[in-house]
Amino acid sequence: MPFRDKNIETLPRDELEKLQVKRLKDTVARCKKSIFYRNRLKDIDESLFTTPKDVSMIPFTTKDDLRANYDFGLVTVPKEEIVRMHSSSGTTGKATVIFHTREDIETWSDLVARCIVMTGACKADVFQNIISYGLFTGGLGLHYGAEKVGMLTIPSGAGNTKRQIQLMKDFNTTVFHATPSYILYVSEVMVQEEFDPKEFDLRIGFVGAEPHSEQTRQRIEDIYDINVFNSYGMSELNGPGVAFECEEKSGMHLWEDSYLLEVVNPDTGEVLAPGEEGELVITTLSREAMPILRYRTGDLARIVDEGDKCSCGRTHVRISRIKGRCDDMLIVKGVNLYPSRIEEVLMSFPEVAANYQIVLEREGCLDSLTVRVELYPKMFDGDLRKLKKLEADITKSIQDEIIIRPRIEFHEYRSLPRSEGKAVRVVDMRGEI
Ligand code: ADP
Ligand code: ZN
Repeated sequence: MPFRDKNIETLPRDELEKLQVKRLKDTVARCKKSIFYRNRLKDIDESLFTTPKDVSMIPFTTKDDLRANYDFGLVTVPKEEIVRMHSSSGTTGKATVIFHTREDIETWSDLVARCIVMTGACKADVFQNIISYGLFTGGLGLHYGAEKVGMLTIPSGAGNTKRQIQLMKDFNTTVFHATPSYILYVSEVMVQEEFDPKEFDLRIGFVGAEPHSEQTRQRIEDIYDINVFNSYGMSELNGPGVAFECEEKSGMHLWEDSYLLEVVNPDTGEVLAPGEEGELVITTLSREAMPILRYRTGDLARIVDEGDKCSCGRTHVRISRIKGRCDDMLIVKGVNLYPSRIEEVLMSFPEVAANYQIVLEREGCLDSLTVRVELYPKMFDGDLRKLKKLEADITKSIQDEIIIRPRIEFHEYRSLPRSEGKAVRVVDMRGEI
């Protein structure tokens, strides 16, 4: 079983917690140098902290705090120490900016390198990084980690799908990183270009940056005949490298020497017991330029185990797949639902292609929910009965899952809009009457 840093990755829990307390104290002391936290933390005496749980004495930091303190409000080092700026994608509003020192880039790249090695990828692999470079952290984050591992790294970025395929072919790419929606699209273009996605040298895929279901992972694995690993992170906490799956694929290990995790009730902020689903709240423990305390990620998940050693030998906590952001929750006809539940149902039908859209409209004073579904070409052979039956089956399965009866609209293969980065799955037109 390969490790990048076996000592730290398998550190006994009590030692890991001791390390967290020490780093938490240092982080709080450091935060007091920033304009934003100076005031916030004036009543906090970090020298009294004895367990990682003492973090709960500190107030939360929200995305709005970061926006209000744009640009250097959370920075704790002189500007000349900063070597890099990144930004969130701005999926939920104005983007936030994050700064790094040289040491921060080193630490971050080490964390990413750990993730890569954990999946079985190694120096001998050829790595194609099929994701946006630039302010978005997915590109440079994985890039630096992959170079640390020593892989031949192809910074192909997102888009230009035919060239991606050409690069894969010409340079015998064995590992890729992409959003799940885009890599599924790449496979469709391969087929159109008369390639078999299985004929490439690919063996491992890293997918992340957007919610996706277990069924979607399995699809990617089947289509390419590879192993696919879930990658979680966000720019506010560096980017990729926060949590990643190991070869067991039973939850993502969150690197607790660098991140202190809490799961809270998103409405009340109350800290939940291990195993309960809630919003991930994360404190950075090894960041210099811009440490963040108790960051409300907005992402919903749960701790898969606590303290139990994973069979890979790593002691760091595992979190479940991300269900979505708190604000991804749709309220339709008074029912709360996450798009990921609809995706799970859709992907269990082999006739259904990977791209879909959920459209919400208001008819009179009632909400309506339409699921636009792409079907594989073989379904359009003139057999209407077959389509009717499929429509009824999908409608029933979704209704069983979410209570609401959806309208199902079939679309031709590859006709719905696609994105090279984060997929846009929900079109909510209810405001536009
Ligand atoms: P933005 O928050 O503006 O989209 P980022 O580009 O930093 O900016 O994206 C981070 C967010 O992407 C996370 O907070 C989470 O909602 C989502 N995300 C990242 N990785 C995953 C993943 N593996 N599964 C589900 N969602 C993810
Ligand atoms: Zn493991």
